[in-house]
Amino acid sequence: MSPRKLGYVVPETLREASEFLREHAEHARVIAGGTDVLVQLRRRPERGRTDGLRWLVDISRIRGLAGVSSASGTIRIGALTTHEEIARNPIIRKGAPLLAEACASVGSPQIRARGTIGGNIMNASPAADTIPALVALSARVRLSDLGGTRDILITDIFEGPYRNLAQPGEILVEVYFDVLPPTCRSAFVKLGRREALAIARLSCAVVIERDGAGRVVRAAIAPGACLPMPARVSSAEEILVGKVPDEATIDAAAREVAEEMVRRTGVRWSTDYKKPALEAIARRAIWRALGVNVE
Ligand SMILES: Cc1cc2nc3c(=O)[nH]c(=O)nc-3n(C[C@H](O)[C@H](O)[C@H](O)COP(=O)(O)OP(=O)(O)OC[C@H]3O[C@@H](n4cnc5c(N)ncnc54)[C@H](O)[C@@H]3O)c2cc1C
Repeated sequence: MSPRKLGYVVPETLREASEFLREHAEHARVIAGGTDVLVQLRRRPERGRTDGLRWLVDISRIRGLAGVSSASGTIRIGALTTHEEIARNPIIRKGAPLLAEACASVGSPQIRARGTIGGNIMNASPAADTIPALVALSARVRLSDLGGTRDILITDIFEGPYRNLAQPGEILVEVYFDVLPPTCRSAFVKLGRREALAIARLSCAVVIERDGAGRVVRAAIAPGACLPMPARVSSAEEILVGKVPDEATIDAAAREVAEEMVRRTGVRWSTDYKKPALEAIARRAIWRALGVNVE
């Protein structure tokens, strides 16, 4: 740890936190579970925005910022809700199973018990596991400061790797999205270097809705850890929509996900590995979202 001294404040209300942040926004950093912040303070100051940092504002004791609720077809998740809580929450497992899968794949039991969904979003890592799932769900986030709240689409909060567009002092209070209807299935597939405690090298979140005849009426495909900014691949979704998907259609959609990655990122040293790997992961996620487990 650097010898620099940091002040540590633990507000008990959102207002208290916001007041402190209004005074010190340029020199303060919110800390929730601390699983990203502490690593950055120790090892990666260039990613941790630690220049001029004087205060850590621990929001973990603020009541009302944790928990999952569902009303009128909308699921709301408080920013302080941990990955572990989300992974085992019955509302999420039923209404957004891909997010439960994504949270269950994060780190280790210890990391899942501390790391929060708000921290995962605001850290804006390209490899963050909840982000592709939230993108596929067309989630929105609510940001709050003393001036009030504003709601934005999840994809609009990112500016680039490890950079978000929240104003200094804004706190993410919740993320919300529509409950997936029973006609929808979903999947989250992640490729890491090993089975556990692995940051995603690639991932893919898929939501597919079908009508009574098995025809796809809605598809959302969001790859992770491979695009410059989190996004859906609409050209791949369009291949599925309107069809009763067969193997050739699914292969074509998965190929399109990988080709779109190359179009957006250009050919890199890793493309020879990433392109076929993403195609395979996308294919697996699409099949799983159609109810078929393939390896
Ligand atoms: C060993 C290890 C393994 C990991 N494995 C994974 C993995 O497999 N998948 C994965 O996605 N991540 C992984 N992570 C990263 C991390 O655990 C997650 O990103 C976690 O969700 C971060 O949440 P946190 O509450 O700990 O965030 P913190 O570290 O407290 O904060 C992260 C960032 O978000 C900001 N922030 C936090 N909450 C808010 C809020 N409510 N409003 C405004 N800003 C906020 C902080 O200022 C900071 O910039 C791993 C980390 C470690 C150390």
